[in-house]
Amino acid sequence: MLDQYGRTINYMRVSVTDRCNLRCRYCMPDGVALVPMKAILTYEEIREVCEAAAGLGISRIKITGGEPLARLGCADLIASLKEVPGIEQVTMTTNGVLLEQYLPALMAAGLDAVNISLDTLDRTRFEAIAGRDELTRVLHSIDAALDAGLKVRINTVLQQGMNDDEWPALAEIAKGRPVDVRFIEMMPIGFGRRVRGVSNASLREALRSRYPGLKDDPSVHGNGPAVYVRIPGWQGGIGFISAIHGKFCDHCNRIRLTSQGRLKPCLCFGDTADLLPILRSGRDKDARNKDLTAALYESIYRKPLQHSFEDPESITEQAAMASIGG
Ligand code: SAM
Ligand code: SF4
Repeated sequence: MLDQYGRTINYMRVSVTDRCNLRCRYCMPDGVALVPMKAILTYEEIREVCEAAAGLGISRIKITGGEPLARLGCADLIASLKEVPGIEQVTMTTNGVLLEQYLPALMAAGLDAVNISLDTLDRTRFEAIAGRDELTRVLHSIDAALDAGLKVRINTVLQQGMNDDEWPALAEIAKGRPVDVRFIEMMPIGFGRRVRGVSNASLREALRSRYPGLKDDPSVHGNGPAVYVRIPGWQGGIGFISAIHGKFCDHCNRIRLTSQGRLKPCLCFGDTADLLPILRSGRDKDARNKDLTAALYESIYRKPLQHSFEDPESITEQAAMASIGG
C-alpha cells in the first residue's frame, strides 16, 4: 500500500526474539534486561500479522532479532511464512554463529537470502565487539551458506578506534566471492548512541582512492536503502547504508514488527501500534484479521516523512536495537 506521502510500503522486518547469543557493545551489551517470554509473539501470532500485512501489499519479509536462530523453530516459521499468499520473499539477518548448524533446515524451508553481520576478521577484536569468541563459527557459516547456493550479504558496522582500520580487509571479502559487503553507519539508537561510528561518505572516498577503477552500480541489489559500487574484477559489490550521512527516507519502503508485537513505522521514533491486544483478544480469526488489517493500515499510512537522527534530541526511540531488529 501507499503511505500518506505516496511511498510504496512492501517490506516488513520481523524481530522474532529479543534474545541473542552475542553481546555486541553497540546493540545489546551484557546486562540488558529481557522481556518475559509470554510477552513475545508466538510463531502463530507472527504468521497472523504477516497474513494481514500481505493483504496490504507487504510482499517481502526479513526475519531478524535479537538473534533469530537463537529461537528454536525459526526455520519452521520461515517455511510457514513462505506459504502465506502474497509473501514473495523471506530473508534473514543473522550474526552467523548458528547458521551453519541450521542451514539444511533453512534451505528446506525456502529461505531466499541471508545477511550475515561481521564487523571484524580478528578474533580478539570480535570478542571485544561482540562479547563472545565466535568468529570462527561465523566465518564457517559464510562459506557454508555460499556452498549451499544461498545469496549472502555481509553487514559491517565500523566504530572509531575499534575496527575502522579494517575496512579494506572487510571490503575484500567481495573480491574473491559473490558476496556483497555493506557498510552500515552506526545509528544513534539504543547503545549505538554511546559509540562513535564512521561516515560512509569518508569511507567511500577512501575506497575510491584505493581502487581508482571503482564505479557506481545503479542496479538494485536487495530490499533496502543500500547504494552500491563495483570494483573491476571483484565478484561482489560494496554497499553503503548511510542513515546518517545519506538520508534515504524519501524512498523508504519498510515497517518493523518488534518481538513484542508492536508495529513500528520508523526506526527513529518510539511511536508504535500495539498489535498484541488484538492477537490475544479472544475474538475469532477473521475478526482478528480485520482488526490487524485496520491497525496496520493506520500505522503504515501515518508513517513519518523522515527520521531525524541528525538531531539527537528529537529521537524518541529508547529501546535497544536488539529488541527492534535493526
Ligand atoms: N542478530 C542479528 C545480526 O546481528 O545480524 C540480527 C539483529 S541485529 C539488531 C541487525 C543488524 O543491526 C546487525 O547488522 C547489527 O550490526 C545492526 N545494528 C545493531 N545496532 C546498530 C546501530 N546502533 N546502528 C547501526 N546498526 C546496528
Ligand atoms: Fe545480537 Fe545482532 Fe545485536 Fe549483535 S547486533 S547483539 S548479534 S542482535
